[in-house]
Amino acid sequence: MKRLNLRHFLSCIKERFISKNLKVVYDDDVPTLLSSLDLLDKVDRGEIRCSNCNNIITREKFGYLKYVNGKVELYCINTNCICQQ
Ligand SMILES: [Zn+2]
Repeated sequence: MKRLNLRHFLSCIKERFISKNLKVVYDDDVPTLLSSLDLLDKVDRGEIRCSNCNNIITREKFGYLKYVNGKVELYCINTNCICQQ
């Protein structure tokens, strides 16, 4: 398994933060956020997959989401997925 490059990871987060394309949520807010988008039930049923790696997203593995052409795309907490543009 590839070692996590923490410096690269943090720089990605920072870039996304600065670009304001990243919606940052704290763990406690995830269910509220997903519920407001009618996605919480789907996540709990394992019906939502990461738009990058295609892994099933759970509440614990939720990384971030973004809007693309009016459609919500969810990404998991995997480093490569969080850094995915
Ligand atoms: Zn992923």
